[in-house]
Amino acid sequence: MSAPDTRELLRRLDGAYGAMHWWPADSVFEVVVGAVLTQNTRWENVERALANLREADHLDPERILSLPEPELAALIRPSGYFNVKARRLVSLVRFIQRSGGLEMLMHWDTPRLRTALLGVHGIGPETADDILLYAFGRPVFVVDAYTRRLFARLGWFPERAAYEELRLHVEGEVGADAGALNQLHALIVEHGKRHCRSRPMCTGCTLAEICAFGR
Ligand code: SF4
Repeated sequence: MSAPDTRELLRRLDGAYGAMHWWPADSVFEVVVGAVLTQNTRWENVERALANLREADHLDPERILSLPEPELAALIRPSGYFNVKARRLVSLVRFIQRSGGLEMLMHWDTPRLRTALLGVHGIGPETADDILLYAFGRPVFVVDAYTRRLFARLGWFPERAAYEELRLHVEGEVGADAGALNQLHALIVEHGKRHCRSRPMCTGCTLAEICAFGR
């Protein structure tokens, strides 16, 4: 393993790809819904499911709760695991409504909000942190499969390292800067799609010099 340098990673990826402007959504609620729909699927499938909800005029907390679960599942079918995700979505929206709505949750501090989100059915650390970072603008780092693969290839952490170990390490190096953590996660996803794929394309990779696998 080599010493991680998250700031150098951010600098190099920033130089290669520029500002990512992630997460693409018209509202905070849309980010929340997208965070559940994106579990175990590609973003293009999430977009199709969101478009179905939008076209049916159901991209709204009360409208989602007004739907029988099978109808909600049918609308989000393109995102895969649609029955499971419908149940998770309903649990999450119920939690939001019980808590007084997204406006009230904006006033909760980050540890309280993270703990509460993790207590909702089907919301694991990655989804909770997606919501915290991209919907609520909190300075947390999202650890996903792209991150694990990249950090393992860089020689920084074993691929099976604990979620919290990776998250806290990156947050410690980058600092409480939601904009930088947002950009870093989006850049890692972009790099995972363009270069550091399951079969990596190391030629021309901006990280080759600092990557154990690339060397
Ligand atoms: S050099 Fe290869 S393995 Fe390393 S980050 Fe780039 S694409 Fe991934």
